[in-house]
Amino acid sequence: MAIDAEADRLLADAADRARRYLAGLDDRAVVPDRAALSALASFDEPLPESPGDPAATLALLDEAGSPATVTSAGGRYFGFVTGGSWPVAVAANWLAAAWDQNAALPVMSPVAARLHEVVTRWLADLLGLPAGTAVVFVTGSAMANTAALTTARDQQLARAGWDVQANGLFGAPELPVVIGENAHTTLVRALGVVGLGRERVIRIPVDDQGRIRADRLPKDVAGPAVICAQAGEVNTGAFDPFPAMVSWARERDAWLHVDGAFGLWALADPSRAHLTAGLAGADSWAADAHKWLNVPYDSGVAFTAHPETHRATFAARAAYLTASTHTRDNVDWVPEHSRRARGFPVYAAIRSLGRDGIRDIVERCCDHAQAFAVGIRELGAEVLNDVVLNQVLFRFATDDETNTILASVQQSGEAFMSGTTWDGRAAIRFSVSNWQTTDDDVRRTLAAYAGQLAAR
Ligand SMILES: *Cc1c(COP(=O)(O)O)cnc(C)c1O
Repeated sequence: MAIDAEADRLLADAADRARRYLAGLDDRAVVPDRAALSALASFDEPLPESPGDPAATLALLDEAGSPATVTSAGGRYFGFVTGGSWPVAVAANWLAAAWDQNAALPVMSPVAARLHEVVTRWLADLLGLPAGTAVVFVTGSAMANTAALTTARDQQLARAGWDVQANGLFGAPELPVVIGENAHTTLVRALGVVGLGRERVIRIPVDDQGRIRADRLPKDVAGPAVICAQAGEVNTGAFDPFPAMVSWARERDAWLHVDGAFGLWALADPSRAHLTAGLAGADSWAADAHKWLNVPYDSGVAFTAHPETHRATFAARAAYLTASTHTRDNVDWVPEHSRRARGFPVYAAIRSLGRDGIRDIVERCCDHAQAFAVGIRELGAEVLNDVVLNQVLFRFATDDETNTILASVQQSGEAFMSGTTWDGRAAIRFSVSNWQTTDDDVRRTLAAYAGQLAAR
């Protein structure tokens, strides 16, 4: 049955509402005001007993929901490391929702399977990863870290004669795991999830930028082992010393995993080769398309340079799953089974931007970070990091001043950035990863700081 006129109006209404929302991004406060938050109470209804009007539900979502969104889609949201969405990626996502494809198996969606092959080849090419790198879409870097470390665990323990998939970890040989002091919380959690332990790790001290100290890599660890690097420290944007870590791993036949949630995209910008040297020599990588590539959530990517081991870890077989011989079955590459076709918006973004467009967004965001660092220094802040990427880490004279000024800029609704702790003291993280951010957004944000500082 084709959809009826009412359903057709509903979809057009949704598109109109979404377009109005996007058109108004620049005029919205970056955080919702008190009235918008109070209006969220209108969602607190009892479970409906009977069907209602879908158009009214959509209207409620827009009228009470839109005002209570954080304007992370817009150009003055510098919180966490977030990223916006290119219009073409949003549009492709709409189409993907209408298609409602299950990207689990080629037989369920030939178009999802073909685009997966194309876009994953493009991604490996764009980032200069080894030919044959396995690329899989997951919800985010948290899952990409988990999938990669699961594979790492299985491959390294197989070297010691242990089959984890068959036998689990009870009685398994020791597997040393090396991480940096500043490893991302999702990486540490992934180590817990895959049974290697959050605390049973060797933590390497970091330098003043949060980089692993190459001179402190443990010499007394033999293989098998797993070592984790970071491309893009969340406060400073710093990159770990990959050449030294690659050598350390190769000497032991260990597995080197890189958490590159946002930093991996720097591989698309040749002017940053001094940061990324050695990075492509790792065994696996995690990245987020929903961060710097600017596609809608949730879109993470796990890469491994060992497709056979990777597949052996996750391969799922059941009588009703008939293995295809030519095309890749996505069910065999991550713990997920059914899934949405995350490749569609990624494909649309990459095809529209090309190599140059992706390099350009990386460059532009880094330039904005530089400009902000200059401006905030002129306002009396201390910039704590070498601004090598899209992150600026800064603070004012005292923790109290840092926290108060950050809170007042956030509350002004003019711009948003997150607080953090650095060297035991309060600091502010300014992260540029949205395609929409302009010079004017940086100026307006600096003006918001100037205003709050003057009001003190
Ligand atoms: C964002 C981030 C993650 C987690 O990614 P999600 O997309 O939130 O799952 C992991 N590591 C680093 C360095 C990040 O910046």
